[in-house]
Amino acid sequence: MIKTDVIIIGGGATGCGIARDLTLRGAHHCLLEKGDFASGATGACHGLLHSGGRYVVNDPGAARECIRENAILRKIAQKCVEPTGGMFVRLPGDSKMFRDRFLKSCDEVGISTEVLSPTRALDLVPGLNPAIEEAITVPDCSIDPFRLCMLNAYTSRHGGGEILTHHEVVAIVKEKGVCVGVLARERLTSQIKEIRGRIIVNATGAWGDKIAQLSGSHVPMSLSKGSLIISNHRLTNMVINRLRPPSDGDIIVPNEAVCLAGTTSLPAGDPDTIEVDPVEVDIIASQAEQMIPAFGSTRLIRTYTGVRPLLKSDAADGRAISRGFRIINHHNGMFSILGGKLSTYRLMAEKMVDVISDEFGLKVACKTADIPLEGQDELSGYPLSKRLKTMEDIICECELISRGDVEHAINSIGTQYIGDIQHRTRLGMGPCQGGFCTYRALGIMQDLGRVSPDESLKILQQFLQRRFKGIRPALWGDQLKEEQLVESIYLGILNMEPQE
Ligand SMILES: Cc1cc2nc3c(=O)[nH]c(=O)nc-3n(C[C@H](O)[C@H](O)[C@H](O)COP(=O)(O)OP(=O)(O)OC[C@H]3O[C@@H](n4cnc5c(N)ncnc54)[C@H](O)[C@@H]3O)c2cc1C
Repeated sequence: MIKTDVIIIGGGATGCGIARDLTLRGAHHCLLEKGDFASGATGACHGLLHSGGRYVVNDPGAARECIRENAILRKIAQKCVEPTGGMFVRLPGDSKMFRDRFLKSCDEVGISTEVLSPTRALDLVPGLNPAIEEAITVPDCSIDPFRLCMLNAYTSRHGGGEILTHHEVVAIVKEKGVCVGVLARERLTSQIKEIRGRIIVNATGAWGDKIAQLSGSHVPMSLSKGSLIISNHRLTNMVINRLRPPSDGDIIVPNEAVCLAGTTSLPAGDPDTIEVDPVEVDIIASQAEQMIPAFGSTRLIRTYTGVRPLLKSDAADGRAISRGFRIINHHNGMFSILGGKLSTYRLMAEKMVDVISDEFGLKVACKTADIPLEGQDELSGYPLSKRLKTMEDIICECELISRGDVEHAINSIGTQYIGDIQHRTRLGMGPCQGGFCTYRALGIMQDLGRVSPDESLKILQQFLQRRFKGIRPALWGDQLKEEQLVESIYLGILNMEPQE
């Protein structure tokens, strides 16, 4: 049995942020995550560090939080944030009245803007639709959610916290009506572990109500699904937003070698069973094409989808629900922290740990806005071309990942999952989507004695199934040809059988 002060359930940005804040304030904790870090909405998001421009007209409170946190994260998380800058573009037919409200609201909230002529905007982003009527710059950035979670967890791990990934909480232990612990099942072995703590924090996002129910409570949520598409290269170096009320497919974010476009907003049920509908891919691609015409012809390498953990609202459209967050005291030893954004994860963690500190009578102030994330020195930064020290032993050509990087990731966490290597190195996240590097990484895991040949085949099959789930909704044109090539590598050359 593990004994601790605070049990955190959920290893997304919120849970990892809470773990770091607790470490810096000296509170012992244990974080449990059923997958790897960022397996939920955090890893399925757009990767936009909002300036607040997106919300400024309809949700100025959330916009204020975003611009404050944007400035903080640029400072403390330099290896996760690419300061691309962002642009809201107005296309023919987009309302001028909305544009005026946008500029006025940005001014009120403190988001710096500059109005650009089409010529100036096209100088900055040559791929833009030449028909744009104007553009307004904002301090949007691109942010890597995986790195962000790893680095927050790094502090906790090195500061004495227990971090258990691939451990699913399956029951809450109660004594006299009070939550005193959890039972967690280890994914690979199905072994059940008991963890006892004084406070339980439910930071499971879209799974929040499921966990609350295990403790006999309930949290009011409106789940909203959003899907995204990934282009095979970087079509813009700045974040591009459409200057209109938030709608489908109106944000494009550059992310290392590729671009992410999205999203949709549809009511969601069980977050474990959502899938991308090919209709969503059509909608997003056609909207993105209006801002950057090359989106209509570029190869889409993958699609993905996530569920926004929004607070309950009667609004029919998920976009009308506030992006603010709430902490709920269930008065049974458990707190839930819900809503918010990736961009505001640090603030959410700060407020949650303030509440915990009050419960414990702890008087240490929050330091996370001032101290840069620990462990950043070990990471390569932007741009991608600076990543490799030598051209030898490249395992993933798309993302320039070396054998040393892969070995380091495997050895540092002792993993048996390809996804864990991906999240730590970006292996397989580029244009070929792991077509050429996955089996090499598995070979290295085998060389290092982490998996047996039989196990590695099973892992590869599972990985290919998951990979195909993301690619299937975008299978046409060049991507269909690419997929046929990958299929012939795995089925024709490596003789992989489809999973039973
Ligand atoms: C499509 C989409 C695009 C978005 N784009 C942006 C964006 O560009 N910028 C931005 O700021 N925000 C964005 N958001 C919002 C943002 O992603 C979320 O608000 C934020 O990531 C939520 O983080 P979280 O840690 O609270 O939840 P999650 O990231 O969902 O983490 C919850 C974790 O709990 C784990 N879990 C669940 N059940 C259990 C259990 N029983 N035991 C153990 N672990 C469990 C899950 O595996 C998961 O990892 C987007 C959201 C979506 C869906």
